[in-house]
Amino acid sequence: MPTAHPSGWAHADGALRGPQWLREPADPNELLPLLWSATATKVDDVLVVGGVALTDLVREHGSPAYVLDEVDFRERARAFRDAFAGYDVYYAGKAFLCTTVARWLAEDGLSLDVCSGGELAVAERAGFPMERVGFHGNNKSPAELARAVELGVGRVIVDSFHEVDRLAAVARDRGRTVGVLVRVTAGVEAHTHEYIATAHEDQKFGFSISGGDALEAVRRVHAAEGLRLLGLHSHIGSQIFDTSGFEVAARRVLALHAAVREELGVDMPEMDLGGGFGIAYTTQDDPSRPDALAAGLTAIVEHECRALGIERPRLSIEPGRAIVGPAMCTVYEVGTVKQVALDGGAGRTYVSVDGGMSDNIRTALYDADYSATLASRRSDVSPVLSRVVGKHCEAGDIVVKDEFLPGDVAPGDLVAVPGTGAYCRSMASNYNHALRPPVIGVRDGKTFTVVRRETEADLLATDVGVGV
Ligand SMILES: *Cc1c(COP(=O)(O)O)cnc(C)c1O
Repeated sequence: MPTAHPSGWAHADGALRGPQWLREPADPNELLPLLWSATATKVDDVLVVGGVALTDLVREHGSPAYVLDEVDFRERARAFRDAFAGYDVYYAGKAFLCTTVARWLAEDGLSLDVCSGGELAVAERAGFPMERVGFHGNNKSPAELARAVELGVGRVIVDSFHEVDRLAAVARDRGRTVGVLVRVTAGVEAHTHEYIATAHEDQKFGFSISGGDALEAVRRVHAAEGLRLLGLHSHIGSQIFDTSGFEVAARRVLALHAAVREELGVDMPEMDLGGGFGIAYTTQDDPSRPDALAAGLTAIVEHECRALGIERPRLSIEPGRAIVGPAMCTVYEVGTVKQVALDGGAGRTYVSVDGGMSDNIRTALYDADYSATLASRRSDVSPVLSRVVGKHCEAGDIVVKDEFLPGDVAPGDLVAVPGTGAYCRSMASNYNHALRPPVIGVRDGKTFTVVRRETEADLLATDVGVGV
């Protein structure tokens, strides 16, 4: 990992400063509001979320725990809904999904994307209106497609010729008609502050526009009995901070949209621009607000539609991370602390917590950056460059690579990591037979369990040797 920071980790004076972007805080006890959910604050030096002191939350529910700020989640969901009025806003369930969250979204008028039979089962169990569900995936099984059709999901986003045939057969057999979007690859890959427009489209998702497969897929969907062609779908990446990456994609996708009108005489009613809107994990990140994103995307699409002389289709977007990411933090208890000497006399403090890569794989998987704060008390000891690590048997088991934490962090302290709502619980594993932590909702000074902590009985439930 240090190769990502070629300027070196230890500075000339021997004090370890970490990566260039990391600033030593004037007061490490203070929260940086951009990184935390709306109700997070420190009261009497203890981190409080939703009116609940995390010391109390841990006393009641144990640690580690994901803490879900209901007010923040719903405010972000409604902010997207309102900023994108006239669009359909599909929450990307893969970021984090459970029945409670699905019910909030249903109540607040959002739609929902799922990408597996399991996610569809959660939506069904929550009573989510199926006409507002979109079903994604590059390899949906015949059983998954059948279930989606039987449940009446509003749209299936098709991703291969095999699937077009399969879905048509499923719909025909049941005498149903299914709304279909065709997922296309626009040859744009957006990531963080950069986007790359490529001619090749070397990835598993979507039909290539440039290669002609996308137009052929549209023809086949249009011709298939049981499939109703709704429009095109394009998703260009994740953790995107502005709308510039969408410009090239929108131009290419709308050109195809116009070509379909020309060739088939069909005005497809919809178009989906995907998700991927970024959030702030650390001070490096500067996300756009939903209203700025909406203005930017609408302007891009309108401009292109005018140039092509076509009517603007009804648009949809699919934010996941930008709604749930900042709405959760993870609280851990510190178990051990170790100072490790590095070259040049500098040292790094390893703070080991009672979770790790089983509850947050993003640091190991994507080299993601996070931040952390001492949550259970104040400290006036100078901050030292620290690394928050987990308890797994793996040297790469890192939760927060670089953060300044007070120099006296000790066993029994609570440390909280913000921005863990997206792709943490949903990617959590039982590695080392860890029990996956609960998701504890907080609101108005009260806690409520959204997903309970796993037990050893849960772990052993699938091990059929247990009863032998
Ligand atoms: C993952 C994904 C999203 C959501 O991405 P975020 O970065 O969480 O906003 C939306 N649409 C599709 C097709 C996806 O695969």
